[in-house]
Amino acid sequence: MTTVKDGTKTTEQFECLMITTGANSRPKMGPISAALEGFEGEVIHSSDFQNPKVFKGKRVLIVGQGESAADIATDISKHATEATVWGRKYLPTAPRYPDMALLDPNHDEEKVINEASTRVPVSDFLESFNTNRFSVGPNIVGYGALRQFMWRVMQNGKGPATGNRYIAELATHCLKGTNGHGRQPFWQADLSQWVTKNGRALGAIARGELGHIVAPKIEKIDGRTITFAGGESATVDVVLCCTGYGGSFDWIANDIGYDCNKNCVRGFYKHAFPPGWGHCLAFAGYARPHQGGIPQCAEMVARAAARVFSGRLALPKDYAARTEVEAAVENQFYIRSPGLKAVVDYPSYMDSMARWIGCETRVPWFRPILFFKYLMYPLWPCWFRLDGVGANRAAAMAVLDKFPISKAFKITPYHIFAMPQYVTSKLLAIVTYPFTPKVSLDRVGLWMWVRPKHYVLHGNSMRFFDLFRP
Ligand SMILES: Cc1cc2nc3c(=O)[nH]c(=O)nc-3n(C[C@H](O)[C@H](O)[C@H](O)COP(=O)(O)OP(=O)(O)OC[C@H]3O[C@@H](n4cnc5c(N)ncnc54)[C@H](O)[C@@H]3O)c2cc1C
Repeated sequence: MTTVKDGTKTTEQFECLMITTGANSRPKMGPISAALEGFEGEVIHSSDFQNPKVFKGKRVLIVGQGESAADIATDISKHATEATVWGRKYLPTAPRYPDMALLDPNHDEEKVINEASTRVPVSDFLESFNTNRFSVGPNIVGYGALRQFMWRVMQNGKGPATGNRYIAELATHCLKGTNGHGRQPFWQADLSQWVTKNGRALGAIARGELGHIVAPKIEKIDGRTITFAGGESATVDVVLCCTGYGGSFDWIANDIGYDCNKNCVRGFYKHAFPPGWGHCLAFAGYARPHQGGIPQCAEMVARAAARVFSGRLALPKDYAARTEVEAAVENQFYIRSPGLKAVVDYPSYMDSMARWIGCETRVPWFRPILFFKYLMYPLWPCWFRLDGVGANRAAAMAVLDKFPISKAFKITPYHIFAMPQYVTSKLLAIVTYPFTPKVSLDRVGLWMWVRPKHYVLHGNSMRFFDLFRP
């Protein structure tokens, strides 16, 4: 590798290369730049956003409905003369604290964040609902049904001043296919696409502090007035594009001749090891979970790569073929977000990496407190430091001990509703196990019905003894 610094060239040789240049390292504008041609106000990207106060006295259009848009729009709405969010389709948004959103018709997510988030039990966080072993236990149909139930309960909420009803409305639009994507396969509920995990903005929309336009495109621009397809319009001084971030592998293609852009991260084994190159080339930071975080997944990749590069862990002989199946299943599963190739299902991904590395958590059958946490607490990365390769039990337990059950856990109606689902799914999996084919490219429909998604995605196939563990 040759680097140039202060005019001096240095050439060094390395056996292996780890690429960590970030899935979100460059601001992305996409087609919005062309669509805004002729707009006479200011156009900026969210990467330029520093302080909501600078928008005082201005009318602002926020483009996008992702995590950045949700936070930035809510902040700006407190200072700007007028703030409106524009999305091209109805995008499901999940409340940060689903239990509160379900039970309290006047739940205000922002208030909880500001006043009480440190006192919220771990079990109330969305992360628990989405990643703990109890919640990911039901098969995909059961899991989808649970989610639909949740949206419906919320829709019946009586709190028009809160975001609950609005959250439910958005989800319902998606399930009905009014988000421009055709009808949602009901068993997948909101799982088949990216979900913004931030109900703050929806509270502001419901209270009328923030406008919301859903229209597939901009129809016309006249000075500072933007008219959308469908007729709605907004006159604004600033367009703030929360159109996301990306990364590019162009430089790799030029330098080492491997076209990573073409093969994209779903073409890499576990989103990290490119077929043919995996023994000496790895990418960390390109598995982006629905829930959880890029760093957690990157840590697992780093652990695997360190062992692969040093010859202590072998890539499966057929890893190119496995990658093809895993990528196809991901494409089929995330059918509503076809462009987001880095998306992974966090629990399945983490467990599949742990199996490979050899750091799977052993079920703590005989330690009741730890067992309960194993089942009910989020799948934090410390679980993969308890046993096996790279274990640091003392450090892992120090994290878990910080969250005693008495303070960190509360039984919610969701748990009660999910219990029969969990048990039924386990029984169904046991009964159908002998007849269920391996997850393969041509068996999509079948495994949806009988397998938890945990054992469908990322090659985390169900082993016989998995039938009898939580
Ligand atoms: C606004 C925003 C909010 C986010 N919030 C969260 C959050 O709350 N929780 C969370 O888990 N994640 C969040 N993320 C995702 C976040 O990107 C990742 O969690 C994390 O930063 C990824 O780390 P990384 O090291 O893979 O990439 P990065 O942090 O992007 O680091 C990549 C580095 O590589 C450098 N680089 C790029 N190209 C080259 C090159 N050719 N040569 C040399 N160096 C290069 C870049 O300059 C950069 O320093 C957020 C992202 C954004 C944009």
